Amino acid sequence: MEDRTNVLVIGSGISGMSCAVRCASFGLDVTLVSPFISERSQSVMAAGGINAVVEGNDEGDTVASHIEDTLKGGGYLAKEEEVRALCERGGEIIEYLKSIGTVFSVNEDGRPAKRAFGGQSHKRTYYCGTSTGKQIVSALVMEVRRYEAAGRIKRRLMSCFHSGLIVDGVCHGALLFDETTRGLTAVYADAVVMATGGQNALFGKTTGSTQCDGYAEGQLFRQGVVLKNLEFIQYHPTTLETAQKRMLISEAARGEGGRLFYVENGHRVYFMEEKYGEKGNLMTRDLISREMYLTKKDVWLDVSFLGEELIRKRIPEVMELCLKYRGIDITKEPIPVAPSVHFFMGGFAVGLHHETNIRNLFAVGECASIYHGANRLGGNSLLAAVCSAFTAAEEIAGRRDNAVHPDFSKYRDEQSDILEKKGKTESRFPVNYIRDLLAETMQNDLGIVRDEKSLGNGIKDVDYYLETADLIKYDNSVMPYFNYSLVGILTLARAVLTSALSRRESRGAHFRSDHPETDRDFAHATLISYDNGAYRTRLEDKGEV
Ligand SMILES: Cc1cc2nc3c(=O)[nH]c(=O)nc-3n(C[C@H](O)[C@H](O)[C@H](O)COP(=O)(O)OP(=O)(O)OC[C@H]3O[C@@H](n4cnc5c(N)ncnc54)[C@H](O)[C@@H]3O)c2cc1C
Repeated sequence: MEDRTNVLVIGSGISGMSCAVRCASFGLDVTLVSPFISERSQSVMAAGGINAVVEGNDEGDTVASHIEDTLKGGGYLAKEEEVRALCERGGEIIEYLKSIGTVFSVNEDGRPAKRAFGGQSHKRTYYCGTSTGKQIVSALVMEVRRYEAAGRIKRRLMSCFHSGLIVDGVCHGALLFDETTRGLTAVYADAVVMATGGQNALFGKTTGSTQCDGYAEGQLFRQGVVLKNLEFIQYHPTTLETAQKRMLISEAARGEGGRLFYVENGHRVYFMEEKYGEKGNLMTRDLISREMYLTKKDVWLDVSFLGEELIRKRIPEVMELCLKYRGIDITKEPIPVAPSVHFFMGGFAVGLHHETNIRNLFAVGECASIYHGANRLGGNSLLAAVCSAFTAAEEIAGRRDNAVHPDFSKYRDEQSDILEKKGKTESRFPVNYIRDLLAETMQNDLGIVRDEKSLGNGIKDVDYYLETADLIKYDNSVMPYFNYSLVGILTLARAVLTSALSRRESRGAHFRSDHPETDRDFAHATLISYDNGAYRTRLEDKGEV
């Protein structure tokens, strides 16, 4: 089977939908692909808000200070012109989101409400209660439907990325696996936009969605796409253990005044305030997570002193989730919190137009690595999701490439044969077993604090899983995607560990106990590429490490 389109967008969270809608508004035909509906993408979980400096509503805030906070929070690893490109579009993006029906919270005087997030010099996080992601997704879903009705956007649900159609450094489309027909389709496109989110499945239980498994990054890496800054993985300091996942206690809870403490000799120790003063509970996420880890004690977050009325008004979802999942009444008792994997600063290496090193292959949203450097500030990723999508769409619309595509039907047939044969392989290793082992390895060896030994152990383990992956039995009771994605996921995990090993310093979310200092020689992004089974790292604008 085959199909054709102008733009193939893979992933339908906030970044994928924003890109599809923008491309469609330029008159391009778009195919929007995802296994599930957008309302089930990770984007709906975004709680706390979206950062922007809007002219006329700044109360002393400026775009320059948004840029400086973002650079500083990211350990000065992102480039200033990149961060500028993000922050300068903040006002426009808030206006756009409002224009399509996103309703932001307002103060009693009717002016837009803003809250404080970690690492910010001003209150600049616009929000919709604690369901900002849901509100933006709902508004974008309506826009997508509008363009679907006009015949500009075609949705392919129950459809997963398989591999890129890439030859001589140019992307011509992608192979997609359709869960309904259980077959591969070659979709030819003038531009392909990856919008597949983070890499949560590498770590098992996280705050995010297991739909975000990093497979597309791992697979395209094997096909020659360069990845960047993979070692920078954000641990969110305040998450709540539940049976299914780590539930996020939004930074909004600390933004509203919530205090972290542990108990020693029967007394509360407000350790962040003791060490960092008034703003201690709102330091950047990497720093708070590390401090919590170093206390080696159980930590709680107290918001009860805010009073029930304010809690119900400002952080109702935090109240509901603590009650629902753990029976904790936060108006009366503190919340037991611990850091957990939350966000991935690393992903596809892209330039200012969000194109990868492969022509006509773009990446947007969380799967693209460009703005956040070594650590992302809360509220900046929703801004980045929309900004990156618009930027890529504008570049694509302005392109005049001759859309002559080579014939990939032989490649598609070969890949179909492989999938069919694998479905019949006899082996004692089910896919699930290796995925669980991988999560254990990554949690143990790539934690908040790492060192050469733990990273070396992790690499050894993942190499072993990669060897056994060739022998695994495909489990016919799960989606075929779950089976064939294993090698890509393992390859990405190996690249993450290799990147972390190559950075012999501590910066942002990457803390090496054997190299605790920040080293000026490493003030560059890590790039990693795959060359016939070899993983090669280098520092951007510098060279081999
Ligand atoms: C609990 C939580 C709260 C958060 N709160 C905030 C916040 O308040 N502010 C903020 O700025 N950021 C927040 N974030 C981060 C932010 O939500 C994400 O970075 C952002 O929503 C990512 O959007 P995205 O479109 O790039 O990816 P996603 O929304 O993750 O969408 C990815 C899409 O790709 C699809 N996909 C994945 N793999 C494949 C494949 N192989 N084939 C086809 N499709 C595929 C998925 O099904 C999905 O449709 C939060 C994150 C979490 C987990």
